Amino acid sequence: MQPYGVPCAFALLIAIALLLGATTNGIEIRHTDNNVENIAARKQASKNNINPVENDRQFWNNVGNDLLQKKLNVERKYGVAKNVIFFIGDGMSIATLTSARIYMGQLQNKTGENEMLSFEKFPYTGLSKTYCVDSQVADSACSATAYLMGVKGNIETIGVSGAVSNRDCLASNDPANQAVSSMRWAQQAGKRTGVVSNMRVTHATPAGAYANVAQRDWECDGDMATDKLAEKWCVTKSPDIARQLIERETGRNLNVIMGGGRAKFLPNTDKDQQGQRQDGRNLTKEWLEINRTSGASSVYVTDRTQLKSLNTNETDYLLGLFATSHMSYNLLANKSVEPTLVEMTEKAIEVLSKGDAGYYLFVEGGLIDWAHHSNMAQLALDEAAMLSKAVGRARELTSPDDTLIVVTSDHSHTMTINGYPHRGSDILGHPVTASTDKMPYSTLSYANGPSARERYNLSQDNTKEPQYQFPSMVNLTWETHGGEDVGVFASGPWAHLFVGNYEQNYIPYAISYAANMGPGAELERKHGDNANSSSTRISVGPSLLQSMSLATFTALVAFLLQ
Ligand SMILES: [Zn+2]
Repeated sequence: MQPYGVPCAFALLIAIALLLGATTNGIEIRHTDNNVENIAARKQASKNNINPVENDRQFWNNVGNDLLQKKLNVERKYGVAKNVIFFIGDGMSIATLTSARIYMGQLQNKTGENEMLSFEKFPYTGLSKTYCVDSQVADSACSATAYLMGVKGNIETIGVSGAVSNRDCLASNDPANQAVSSMRWAQQAGKRTGVVSNMRVTHATPAGAYANVAQRDWECDGDMATDKLAEKWCVTKSPDIARQLIERETGRNLNVIMGGGRAKFLPNTDKDQQGQRQDGRNLTKEWLEINRTSGASSVYVTDRTQLKSLNTNETDYLLGLFATSHMSYNLLANKSVEPTLVEMTEKAIEVLSKGDAGYYLFVEGGLIDWAHHSNMAQLALDEAAMLSKAVGRARELTSPDDTLIVVTSDHSHTMTINGYPHRGSDILGHPVTASTDKMPYSTLSYANGPSARERYNLSQDNTKEPQYQFPSMVNLTWETHGGEDVGVFASGPWAHLFVGNYEQNYIPYAISYAANMGPGAELERKHGDNANSSSTRISVGPSLLQSMSLATFTALVAFLLQ
């Protein structure tokens, strides 16, 4: 104990000094920027923005009690999830969720802080740990392997175990190193399957549904041939991701494939479409022929009008490629050419709903991540809002009695919500003045990215411009991902399996159990369920409540609300 005595006493003195509002090097240390202007601004904002009922203690008592009642009355759903819809908000960190809900509220002239994204209303929430085998911070490739195939691998690899290092194409061809997609589990259970993204459908996240590859950038043979770090013979030994999509079992059995990325499927002689294939193949034509020879009705569409007029009742297989590369940001898109994520989700559900054995649909809102990489926070929040709408629409079109919906993210980003902006502050604004250099700073900023430069006065910037780059600290050409956990939200049969804090690769196992497919079908069914769903109310009865001490009850409430 002796060696710690002096440091402990010293720490105590510092703590006391801080509590008394001491100064260090003449700079006041306080939690808030407590200067006269900021105090006055906060008071004025309170008058303008805050509903006066919030000043009443009873209001918050009621909010707490209502939430407690809701939690106590949540019904656990058992049975079997006939359908599963799995949404990924790529790069949708917790900070993105918070700021997106404020953004959505402020679009409706509300303060925004107490709004809810559609999936934040789901009854069960958890946290997933996103690190990969060789990386503390995940990329979309290794994380897709985890949440779609149940295996953690190395960064930049897709659908292969940690035994395959980046670009080791020989090891990636060894079946012992290949993970099996949860899409395949669903197909083997007789379900229809689909993948929707607003990125190239060969990009890392959607590729996690069907590919096994040692490098995420090998989307077509042209990418492999121009990869300076790759062994050239990999091109002949290991099929590119687009080829895997139409040639390998999981990919070619997908009933729905929608997103961007036409260039990866077309020969480089097709200059109009910016084709990138060096092997001269037109994979969209091949895809149509494969499905037609099997007698199925297959349709290839390339714009919103064609998708809108599609007769989904007569469509067994749908390929929609709406852009040569990634699709456009919602705020910047030509809406007559490109469908929205909501529209693609609706059509996918319609096509997949035809089967008797149900379906498994994977939907990625990928442009959240893309915007963050450019420090374009508004576009990221708007894309998160679009994902929220797509999830809300999917919940409307389905029943929680037979359809499990899971919403999560693959990894975080470096954006933070910082300062002490007053209630209702413009989430895209710069309401706070720094105490040291007296210049304003924006509520949203990044740890790194292309916007980094010396501290400067942004008060004349139009931070509401959609492509405004919010400040970052370390200059990188491309902002990085973040390493903290991401949220998981679930609704429907067995949604309660998603509560807690767990490894990201647990997610497909929980889905497989809920849908009674793949590894989950090997396990004994709990609660005596069968093909029909059932619900059991979990509640704390009055007698139990009455027998509790106040301390126990308080602890229970704290536990339920934490
Ligand atoms: Zn990314």
